[in-house]
Amino acid sequence: MSEEKERLISGKLAADDAKLDTSLRPRCLSDFIGQKRLKDNLGVAIQAAKQRGEALDHVLLYGPPGLGKTTLSHIIALEMGVNIRITSGPAIERQGDLAAILTNLKPFDILFIDEIHRLSRNVEEVLYPAMEDYALDIMVGKGPGARSLRLKLPHFTLIGATTRYAMLSAPLRDRFGSIFRLDFYDEDAIHDIVSRSAHILGVEAEENGIRQIACRSRGTPRVANRLLRRVRDYAQVKGNGLITGDMAAESLACLEVDRLGLDEIDHKVLKTIIHKFGGGPVGLETIAAAISEEADTIMDVYEPYLLQLGFLERTPRGRQATRLAYQHLNIPYPADKNNQQGLWAENGT
Ligand code: ADP
Repeated sequence: MSEEKERLISGKLAADDAKLDTSLRPRCLSDFIGQKRLKDNLGVAIQAAKQRGEALDHVLLYGPPGLGKTTLSHIIALEMGVNIRITSGPAIERQGDLAAILTNLKPFDILFIDEIHRLSRNVEEVLYPAMEDYALDIMVGKGPGARSLRLKLPHFTLIGATTRYAMLSAPLRDRFGSIFRLDFYDEDAIHDIVSRSAHILGVEAEENGIRQIACRSRGTPRVANRLLRRVRDYAQVKGNGLITGDMAAESLACLEVDRLGLDEIDHKVLKTIIHKFGGGPVGLETIAAAISEEADTIMDVYEPYLLQLGFLERTPRGRQATRLAYQHLNIPYPADKNNQQGLWAENGT
């Protein structure tokens, strides 16, 4: 497995995405394609906060990588007309790091913490009074004479982003005023995103070319933009620069992205479950070990989309490949599986 292929369909930010990301990032809510319900609710919350002259309530955004959490945070800052300070869970190692960030915020500023589930517990403890009372408790002195001092913080908005909602502690979750889940985009929305990006990049693309890219983008804008860039290169070198349907299909086939956007690793995951573990159920760690991948990568990048496609099922005993997965891989579905799947359905699992 080459690193290049791994990156191609991953929603995670890759080094060469950064420049493209900035130029293609929508700047206001109306430019943000898809996620209608989230956009409507967020729009109301922003307008209400502005009308009252208050800071926006703390917002938690969760969902797989590459769906627009960072983009939305920038948009919120812009719509509110305030500054945004960006950091991430692993970057804040000690309580003092967070205290320094918090005391430097101006009223109504936004603090964006990416991967907020990776904050350590003692850093999280500083966050609770900061979020709830806009206060920072610091210890002065040592030993029996030590006392706690409470510093006032400006009213700010915390935006937390995470790919792992379940890993967030309950006290932290409870302190967010709004919690929004980002879903994979439907094909029409991704089509519009590819079309918009092609326009911004000045790439000529036929309708069918855009469709071919959209249906392989795993419902993920970051993947859509990345595939567009690869197809653009291919069309430029192999043709006259125009992205036709054939050109897009051909170039993505060369990159080993199949017609649903699955790559070699997705295939490996499914085939391992099917061939090595009789179709499952099998634990995620076992699958990860069998294909020498990290369990975290499978959980964040590969599994959500396979679940969405209905190719994988989560059962109490592990992951199971579905009939659809067998069909997609052209592997005959074992007769004895029919009964087993009926059993899961009956148990409501
Ligand atoms: P996340 O923070 O969830 O990993 P990002 O906000 O960094 O994802 O989004 C990745 C890229 O996808 C952005 O640079 C942007 O170009 C594009 N993007 C995300 N959401 C949208 C959208 N709704 N409309 C258009 N482009 C989008």
